[in-house]
Amino acid sequence: MYPDGEIKELNSANAEQFVEAPVIQCYTRVTATALNLSAPIRGYDVLELFAFVRPAEFCLPTISGLAAATSNKIPKNIHEDSEALIDIIKTLLNELSTQKSPQLKKTASLLDSVNWSWGESVMRALNINTEPQISEITALHAWRDLKLFPETIKPRVSAEEPILENASIMRLASMLSTESEERPSQTEYAVAITNVFSHQEYPDQPNLLVAEAGTGIGKTLAYLAPATLWAEKNNAAVWISTYTRNLQQQLDKETDKLYTDPTIKAKKVVIRKGRENYFCLLNYQEAVNQSHNNPNAIIALALISRWLLSTRSGDMLGDDLPSWLSDILGLSKVLSLADRRGECIHSACTHYKKCFVEKAIRNAQQADIVVANHALVMVQAALGGLDDTNAPSRYIFDEGHHIFDAADNAFAAHLTINETADLRRWILGGEGNKGASRSRGIKKRISDVVELLGDDSENLSIGIQNILKCALVLPAPGYKTRLLDNKFEGPAEGFFLQLKHHMYTNLVSDSPYNLELEILDLPVQLIIKAKEISVALSNLGNAVTTVLHFLDLKIKDCKDPGDNYLKHRMEGLHRTLDQKAALPLNAWNQMLETLECQTPAEFIDWFCINRYDGKDVDIGLHRHWIDPTLPFAQTLITHAQGVGITSATLKDNTGEDSIDWEYAEKHTGISHFSHPPKRSALQSPFDYENVTRVYIVNDIKKTNIHDIANAYQNLFAAAKGGALGLFTAISRLKKVHEMMHRGLENLNIPLYAQHIDPFPTNTLIDIFRSEEDSCLLGTDAIRDGIDVPGSALRLMVFDRVPWPRPSILHKARRNANEGSVYDDRITRSKLKQAFGRLIRSGDDKGVFVILDSMTPTRLLSSFPKDTPIKRLPLKEVIKETKIFLETEF
Ligand code: SF4
Repeated sequence: MYPDGEIKELNSANAEQFVEAPVIQCYTRVTATALNLSAPIRGYDVLELFAFVRPAEFCLPTISGLAAATSNKIPKNIHEDSEALIDIIKTLLNELSTQKSPQLKKTASLLDSVNWSWGESVMRALNINTEPQISEITALHAWRDLKLFPETIKPRVSAEEPILENASIMRLASMLSTESEERPSQTEYAVAITNVFSHQEYPDQPNLLVAEAGTGIGKTLAYLAPATLWAEKNNAAVWISTYTRNLQQQLDKETDKLYTDPTIKAKKVVIRKGRENYFCLLNYQEAVNQSHNNPNAIIALALISRWLLSTRSGDMLGDDLPSWLSDILGLSKVLSLADRRGECIHSACTHYKKCFVEKAIRNAQQADIVVANHALVMVQAALGGLDDTNAPSRYIFDEGHHIFDAADNAFAAHLTINETADLRRWILGGEGNKGASRSRGIKKRISDVVELLGDDSENLSIGIQNILKCALVLPAPGYKTRLLDNKFEGPAEGFFLQLKHHMYTNLVSDSPYNLELEILDLPVQLIIKAKEISVALSNLGNAVTTVLHFLDLKIKDCKDPGDNYLKHRMEGLHRTLDQKAALPLNAWNQMLETLECQTPAEFIDWFCINRYDGKDVDIGLHRHWIDPTLPFAQTLITHAQGVGITSATLKDNTGEDSIDWEYAEKHTGISHFSHPPKRSALQSPFDYENVTRVYIVNDIKKTNIHDIANAYQNLFAAAKGGALGLFTAISRLKKVHEMMHRGLENLNIPLYAQHIDPFPTNTLIDIFRSEEDSCLLGTDAIRDGIDVPGSALRLMVFDRVPWPRPSILHKARRNANEGSVYDDRITRSKLKQAFGRLIRSGDDKGVFVILDSMTPTRLLSSFPKDTPIKRLPLKEVIKETKIFLETEF
């Protein structure tokens, strides 16, 4: 829209002329991508204004999202979009004019002084008339306004009182008083899960429950009932482990029903994440100190400082820092403000008593319910405590069908050039360009312990010096360029370069995906280099072990209560050194030791060149457990007293109950315990016969990309949007998107796509959920993360049967299990999970389509028993989909 109100529609052909003009827009980068511009259009991004006025508030990064967040009229078409943007700006500036905070005014002045596009408007709204001064950089010292947390926390004295079934039922009833939808199986489920909170039945293992609860049972509230009761009665936390962010958010909402006072809830329910998720005030302070004379850095830090003073947790990923803000300001720069590499200097840090990471640890130590993800829980259980020594005794693993994948990641080892370079950086800190690097090495990180030990610190200092010396064998800064130029420095780089030669000699190199190679027929040069790196890593490992022994002895010496703090710090240092250095070094050495002989039967090893966008990004040797649930079970056995594993999709659906349970127990690690678990299975209450349809299209060739794109477009059009397209390969997704997006645009149906639209996956899902008639294309991450109740998801289309990828790892597991039966089980499970996303409540209806005529009938038992399933030509499927979705029920 021009200043005179005239509206012109832009496309890539005529948009270039606006690149230099200051234009008001929503999400500069997305606009540039949509218009296929070589550079973003200069101007005023309304999202930046929103971030300044309403820090730490949720808003979808679209004009409709901004309109909804500011309570303005939601625009219905692109003509209304322009007017909506003006209304949104007016609302935000009006809101600003009522704010009086001196800190806000200082930040505004600073932003104006560096010519932030909204600077003048914001200054006017805040009624600031003074000349801006660059020296007002102190406006960024937001840490000064954060509250200190209490010096000490009372240690918990926990009991071991069991919960009775009746008590669970009553607690659930009290939580349900405001629920509208009746769910009769919910009570049955709450009773079953109470077993996790009963007296330990066998002394050598936790109480185990495997519970499949179909969608719509209301299992979250049902397990929260006994869990919260047990926590209150025993003064100890129950850990609830999830896989997706959606479930964490759902748990957050569900606990509102129990704790209506937000202050009490904040104490009782804590979301706990790994420290790499949290904002590090010291990193921020160092970034501020380096930002002088750099307007872009000052703008980014000023907007972050606004968030910093409003955030409830300091969590940079998945809480109240909008992902679009990180994207706008530069994702890697923003994320470098978190403690991503474990470089915390703890009490030597001036911000220690305000630190978000410390606050999260302390809050979790006092909470009743700690919500975490599978990965964190597994690391925490394996190490017997993450940032403290308390490993919880009661766990609920929700989304239990993801345990296998989470364990697979948590217990794998990767001897790669990037991993080894990361370890060097963790030990030595930023080398070379000292001014630009904020990375702190181990020497700095232990400085407080050295100081506290005083005269006793000599051996520690010597030990650390030795670690620093031995770490010089790891890949040094500049290693990527050297590897590209076939050069190397030191034994680690020498090994990876030799591995590169070996792989490219034995592989076809033009695949855009990761290149894998089995460990066979190794050339002599590679074996020599493997021995060299092995010796170097062993020396480093020994140096680390010496320091760990020293710390062990000193920790045992700390008997005086006055030494508690020192003891706590040394325990923390021990854990970090163990986790960051000793464990990977040990795993790498074990892999190198067996390189020339047989890999131990429980593992599979292989070489891999990781590729992104067709370019090599990492190279190395990988080791995975054939059955990663084994180490998972071993870690739980040592300390857990009650473990519940639950999901809507745990069992297989062969029709033979004992076989189906066997799959559930094998896939979650429960089969590794000596005594059998309790089992519970509850059917979903939904009327699948009437609310769903499954179609297998039987007249198109899955290899003909034109047919596939045509099918997607016509099916999405028949559903009038609200459709999700799932792909088993990114390349096919991209081609289909290219062929169909214009067609849907002409029908006014918005189409979004993972790997094409520059939004993070979670934002894409949020947009899809909020725009009822939009469509979304995606791959596995979308399938796992999607939770869209209501008609915004009414059609789901798979391009092919989602068979497992034939990787070296998969082949090894297939051979160790039952061959093709194993593949069937995994595929049925994927289809079952995807179908479960379609119907989320009693009012939903939906259609599920597979565009693969080769879909075997044996896979169709993935769908609930009464679901109507038909094999039909595309034309019929389109017709039936249209009629079914248009019909009231
Ligand atoms: S204590 Fe550690 S994580 Fe916290 S602000 Fe300081 S350095 Fe960062």
